[in-house]
This record gives sequence, structure tokens and C-alpha cells, in this order.
Amino acid sequence: MVDWTSLEEKWRQRWHEEKQFESDPDSKKKFFVTVAYPYPNSPQHIGHGRTYTLADVHARFMRMMGYNVLFPMGFHYTGTPILGMARRIQENDKELIETFRTLYKVPEEKIREFSEPVKIADYFHQEIKTGMIEMGYSIDWRREFTTIDPVYNKFIEWQFRKLKEKNLVIQGTHPVGWCPKDQNPVSQHDTQGDVEPSFTEYTIIKFRYDSYILPIATLRPETIFGVTNLWINPNVTYDIVRVDNETWIVSSECTTKLEFLNKKISRVGKITGNDLIGEKAKVPERNDEIFVLPATFVKSENGTGIVMSVPAHAPFDYQALQDLKNNTKKYPNLPVITNISPISIIETETYSEIPAQDVIKNFQIDDQNNPKLEEATKELYAKEFYGGKLKQNTGKFANKTVSVAKEEVKSWILASGNADILYELNDPPVKCRCGAECVVKLLDNQWFLNYSDREWKEKVHSWLKEMKIIPEEIRNEFNNVVDWLRERACARQHGLGTKLPWDKNWIVESLSDSVIYMAYYIISKYVNNKEITVDNISDSFFDYIFMEVGDSKKISSDYKIKPEILEKIKNEFQYFYPVNARHSGRDLVPNHLTFFIFNHLAIFPRKYWPEEIVVNGSVMMEGKKMSKSMGNIIPLRDAIKTHGADTIRLTILISAELLQDADFNQEAVRGIKNKLESMLDDCTKYKPSGNIHLQQEDRWLQSRLHQIIAKTTSSMQKMRLREALHYVLYDFESDLQWYLKRVEAKKRRDFAGILHEIFSTRVIMLSPFAPYVSEEMWSRLRNSSLASQSSWPNPIEDKIDFKSIQSENLLKLTLDDIKNIIRVTKIIPKRITIYTAASWKIKAYERILSKVIVGQINIGMLIKSLISDKDTEEIKKDPDFVKKTVNDILSESQEERESKIKAEFINEQEILSELDSLVQSEFGVPLQVFVESDHKRYDPKNKAKTARPYKPAIFIE
Ligand SMILES: [Zn+2]
Repeated sequence: MVDWTSLEEKWRQRWHEEKQFESDPDSKKKFFVTVAYPYPNSPQHIGHGRTYTLADVHARFMRMMGYNVLFPMGFHYTGTPILGMARRIQENDKELIETFRTLYKVPEEKIREFSEPVKIADYFHQEIKTGMIEMGYSIDWRREFTTIDPVYNKFIEWQFRKLKEKNLVIQGTHPVGWCPKDQNPVSQHDTQGDVEPSFTEYTIIKFRYDSYILPIATLRPETIFGVTNLWINPNVTYDIVRVDNETWIVSSECTTKLEFLNKKISRVGKITGNDLIGEKAKVPERNDEIFVLPATFVKSENGTGIVMSVPAHAPFDYQALQDLKNNTKKYPNLPVITNISPISIIETETYSEIPAQDVIKNFQIDDQNNPKLEEATKELYAKEFYGGKLKQNTGKFANKTVSVAKEEVKSWILASGNADILYELNDPPVKCRCGAECVVKLLDNQWFLNYSDREWKEKVHSWLKEMKIIPEEIRNEFNNVVDWLRERACARQHGLGTKLPWDKNWIVESLSDSVIYMAYYIISKYVNNKEITVDNISDSFFDYIFMEVGDSKKISSDYKIKPEILEKIKNEFQYFYPVNARHSGRDLVPNHLTFFIFNHLAIFPRKYWPEEIVVNGSVMMEGKKMSKSMGNIIPLRDAIKTHGADTIRLTILISAELLQDADFNQEAVRGIKNKLESMLDDCTKYKPSGNIHLQQEDRWLQSRLHQIIAKTTSSMQKMRLREALHYVLYDFESDLQWYLKRVEAKKRRDFAGILHEIFSTRVIMLSPFAPYVSEEMWSRLRNSSLASQSSWPNPIEDKIDFKSIQSENLLKLTLDDIKNIIRVTKIIPKRITIYTAASWKIKAYERILSKVIVGQINIGMLIKSLISDKDTEEIKKDPDFVKKTVNDILSESQEERESKIKAEFINEQEILSELDSLVQSEFGVPLQVFVESDHKRYDPKNKAKTARPYKPAIFIE
């Protein structure tokens, strides 16, 4: 049994003593890798472990590739969640205290201090940091900071003054996700389940009924020309509401939404949907009247609770109208219904006159409550949006494409006062951490980052084209985010963080003070070692360090900072910047990761823009989503105590490539642990030795090694770590077993050195993944250096000996064939005879292989060309040979075929004579090998003629 805790402690100590991961500028090429810093309001769990482990493997790999790697870490204190927690502690919230006590195992006396917000952050900061150290992350801890450090505050002030100078921070009225209880904007960090509140803008169109307005909310204002009636839910009680100077009839949910949109709202009465049925409403711009009709698909929580009906283009409307026509008895007072027919206003290549009817047929829908209507609507909407054109009955919008007309119709109705705007949260309900349901609020005089700025967006789009995005499939998600991002509230009235420099009532919020902090890792080292203090810091300091702007002598004398320190910091920044790789979870694509690009482009010159983003998916626990309610959130430090850091790292990494969900399960944990223990055991067996005469199996094992190095290196470079880890842990296994069988059968004593070489290389490649146990293995292999300081092995083309590879393959396959024959025929062997193909067959094989590899597999043509050649004319005797050989080759991989071409001719008779020792040791009988054409061969059953290259004939008696 391995004592993982003390093994890890031993190597951690050594890394620490030798300052392994502290990096300062030197003559080597640099690599700067960062991960989104943690928010310390709870301990880290296994899910967090994935992102940081991926970044650490990346850092360790690049270090071994010869780069001077900087991998630092900070702590994000900014925001309201910690304040909220402290308040709940002050209020003696039983549930939260219980969570701290039992799930997070916080000591009682610490919990008492938690009424002070910073104490919570400090406690979990230390907890998370200790966990990261225990996980073996190769972090340069000299650069640690928190976002409430005074120098950091100065840095954020500088960032915001820069953005304001460039007009990218603006004050205005814009919609934001909002917590009505906290009276604060909300973003992903503030919501339960970490949802980024997003919303959609709808156009309200006002239909007039007497002195009232019946407003509807739509995403398709252009369909106003096809309206045939309004829908109302007869079972809903609607509000009569004064909205500024008008009286609207809307659902009560809609009234609530309107209250946050800068309107003067007062409720004046109620009316049921049923009361409105059969009434007439005037269509704006068209000035004709339509009926209000009943429909149960209308939901009070969507839009205004009233819907305009466009049956030609909206499947819901078409179906609701059909339902009414089929059920006229229910509404005897509505004889009008049968007269209503769809008005078609959009033409496409896909659909007939009434597109809604087409999709309803295709989806086989026969009722307005059928769930397939959603999908039918989406399909039709997409087709019309991208391929539709407005018909002649749409007045001045005729012949315009739907995508253009949509915006134009909207502005046209808005200008006439017959329209308005409604914002609606996507995927409601979104809950604030305080428990309140979030809404969309139009916020006045708020500070916004102007992510709507067209020029800024275009700049980001074009830089995205240059950036490496791993995995590539996520690139489009970034482009979409850049497109839909708009003004974003960047300040809050409460919370920890930096005050807006020009308006101290506001605090910069957490997704705005975390976008360029990677540059601050250069500064923080000098703050921590006290070479600079907050008194030395000014905007001109940052301008000089980051932009090389200003007079260093003046800055030195104005702020009492030593000129050589100023120079040193500037040079260090210029050395390490830009960020070479930024790692984060997928949930940060729609906000942090995209803001990171936006802000770098806004503030820094081009040479400091980020080069690469690596995105990963989440971690499941035994196949299930992790959640508090499932009780399956395992704090990382608990898991380290139980399983050891290396096992956790490997279990997470081996179960999935980047974007897939990783799965942490006990079976995998056991498998990994056993594997590591047996490898560790193996490393004590072999010691380095001098040069020996290499035999074929040695050359073969070395070839396999270099093939695996090449494959592993390529996977590492693409961050396909699951694949790389498989090569290192498992691909070697069957090769080693075969090798041991071979050397034992030959009774060799001189192979320990070869295995030492193989194991050493394998341990080096394992080291970025499982750093602790790799050090232990490395030292058991009698190395005094550190595995983590070793160079990544170089795949050497020359060491790949294709002849040896083909020879060993031939031996392996032939031995397998012998075993199979014995198993099937149940013969107790007395002697075994093998026949290899005649030389004309080998020549024919080579020709056939060279044709098949370029796709020529016409048997007739092949036979013809072989017969015409003197070397291979004997094919006449055995034309079937060609077909069989083509099939042999086609059943192999392209890689295998190329390997055979590179191996050229192998002498099968000579190679197979090596089987003798193996056959002797496995079956205890002699083996003889003949060439098919040998006249003196022993061949009583006339078997030799069936031999083919790489497929010798076997005779067992
Ligand atoms: Zn709240």
C-alpha cells in the first residue's frame, strides 16, 4: 500500500524548497498561462478542480517543452454574494450556518466571525489556496493578490479611466437584470445556480378597444400585415392599468414587468379574459377592426398575456383558429369565426401560400396544446427570417427581406406611437442569491460598459479570427456572444471592490474588474515583496509599465519609486505579456472570457492581446450532475485526503476531452490508483545500464516508444489530454507484456537497461498529469533530478524502425494464430511447421500494396498487370491470391499500410525462426520454418501453397 499523503508531502516540500515554480524573466522563451481566479465564498469542489488541473497540466507541459512558464493565482473578493452571506450570518440563518458547519467543516469560532464579510473571503481564500497547493498546482505564489488590495484598486481605477477616455464607459438608461430586493443589478455571480441573466427585447404593438389599449408583445412586428384577430385567455383575469397617459389591459405578470421599465404605473381595475371575447379591436396603421377570440395556449406570464393572431405564418395561431372552427358550439355567439381566413404576407421557396398549415401538417399537429408547436414555430420562423420576402400586401415594405423589414416595420410603428418595447428574461425564473426573483429593469444614470459599440465589436470579431480557441468547436459561441452583447452595467451600489474613480457612489462590479488583471500579476510580485507600496502608485505608473508612455524620471521623483524598480517592472511586463493561454469553464464564455478579449483590445496595444483561450466542460459525480440538493458535492480537500491528488487529477482528466462532461466515479478512481501503484512497483525493478547489443525486440520496443512519444506530444499540443493520458498509461501495456515474453523466452539477462529507458520516458510524460507519483517513480528509477524539471522527450524519427515493427507484428500474429488453431482443434501439439510465402508472392504483394494504398483495387486490372511482369507471372497459377491479398490489405488501417511500405522487404523465414523459443516455452514442442518454394520442405498435407506474405501457413500435428 502506498501512503499517498506522505509521498505527496515529501515532493511538495522539495518543489517548495527548490522554488520550482517561481518564474522571473530570463533568456528562455516565455509562456504565460492563467485561469479565472476563484471567488472565495465556499471551498473548491471536484468540479473546480478540473479547470485548474487542466491549466496546471498545460503549464507543466510547456515548462518541460523548454518554456519559462508563468502560472500565477489571485483571489476575487469583489461583489455582493459575500455581503449577502455575512448578512445571513448576522440574522442567524440556520441553513447557512449548517452548511458551513457540516458540508464545509468550518470551525465554530470561525463561523462566529463570518458576520464580517472579509472574514468569510479570507477564510475560504486560505482554504482554496491550501487545496491548490495540495493538488500540486505549479503556481508562482509570490504573485498572489486579492481584488480588494489597495494597489489593485488603483489598477482598476486606471483601467476605468482608460475606458472612459475612450468613451467605452457611458452613463445612460439601459435594461439590466435586476434584483428588486437588493435594488442592485445582477449578473452570473449574483444568481442561484450561477445563471447569467439574459433577456429578449420584444416589440409591443398597441391595438385599440374603446378607450383601452390591448397591447401585444411580438418578435415579429412585420407580421402586423397578416393579423386576423387577437387571442386572449378566457380563464385569466387581466389588470386594467394606467401606463403613463394610457389605459392598458394586460396580465398581472405583465404589470409587474412594466413597473421596472420607467413607466408610471397604477392599477385601476380587473377584467376577465372571457369578458373581452367577441369584442373588436382596431389594428394600428391598418385602421380596420378585428375580433378578440379565446385561446388556451395564451399564457399570462408570456409577454402581455394577449397575442396577435397571424394564422398564415404562426403555427400556434393557425391551430387555435382550427380548434375554434371545429368547436363552434362552445362559443355560439361567435359566428364570425368561420369567416376568418389566414392572410399570407411572406413568400419563401420552401412553403406554399399558407406556411403555417404546411408545418402543422409536417409535424402532425392537431391541437393548440401540442408541445410540437414550439418546434414547428422555430422552424418556420428561421426559414422565413433567412429566406422570406414580404408580399405586395405589405405596402411600402413589399419585396423587402424579412430580416430587413422586421427592423424597419418596428421603427415605423414606434415612430407613430403605436408601439413600445418590453424586455423579458430568458428562461425564467432567474433567482437572486437572496431568494428574490430577478426582473429586467431599465436603469437610469447607470454606468455601462458600451459593448454595443460597433467599432469595438468589429475589432473583437477580427481578433477572434487570429486567436487560437481550444477546442475549435467553441469558436462560434464566442462570435455569437460578441454579436448579442450590449451595454452592460459595470457598477453597483453595494459590495466589495473598487469605487468608480469619478463617482464614488458606485463600486465596479465583479465581471468588470476581472478582465485585464492578468497584467497585474507582474505588479503584485513587487507589492508582495514590498519593493513598491500604494503610495508609489499613480496612473502614470501604469501608463509607463503597460504602455511605455511618460517620463520615467518624473514618475520616479513624483512618486518616490526607485527608477531601477520602475524599469524592472516594465521589462518584466514586456517579457511575460501577452497572456499565451487563458483557461476557464464553459459557463464563462458568455461573459468573462468574452469581456477579457473586449477589454484587452480596448486598453492594450496589439502586441499584448491574448493569444489563446482553452474552454472546458463540467464534472459529473457518478454520472449525475453535482448539486447541493443531491448531496454529491465533494470538497476538493476531502477528496485529496481520501484518494490522493494524483488519482483525482487523472480520474478527472481521463474521463473526457475538454468540452465533454467529465465523470468522477469510484470505479475509475480504483482503476487509476491500481495502475499508479503497479507502475510505481515496476520502477524499482529496472536500473540504468551501459550500451548493449540491440536485438530485434529491443529495436522494436524503442520504435514503439518513439511512436508513442510522437502521438502523445501531438495530443498534448492540441490539449487533447484524455487521449495523451491513454497513450502514456495504457498504450505501452501490451507492448511491454510482449517484450517481456520475448526476452524471457530467449532467456536474456541484459534487458533491464532497455526497460529503464522506456520507463524513464514514460514517467516524464506522466509527470504533467500526475506530478507527485511521477517524482517518486523518477527517483526509484535512480534519478536525482526532478521529473518536473526534465525535458519533454523528443520523438526521434530515426529510432522508429519499421522493419522491427513489422517483424514483431508478424511474430505476434503468427503466435496468436497457432494458439487459435490449437484452441479450436483441441490438438495436443507434437510438432509445429510454418511455411512462408514464395518470393514471387512477396513481389506481387509489394506491387498490390503500392496500388491499394492509392486506391486502385480493381482485381482484374491488378491480375493483368502482374501477369505481364516476369517477376510475378506465376500469379497465373493462383489468381485467387490477388483477391485475398487485397482483402488482407483493406482490413488494415492506413497507418499500418504505410508502416509496411516503410518496412520494405522483411525476411519472414528468418524472423519466424525467432518463434522457436516462444513456441518451446509455451507448448514445449519444436518448430520448423520452410519457404513455400523449398523442395525439401516437410509438407505432408500440402499446406505450404496457402502461405501469403504476413500470413504464413501453419501446420500442427
Ligand atoms: Zn437579491
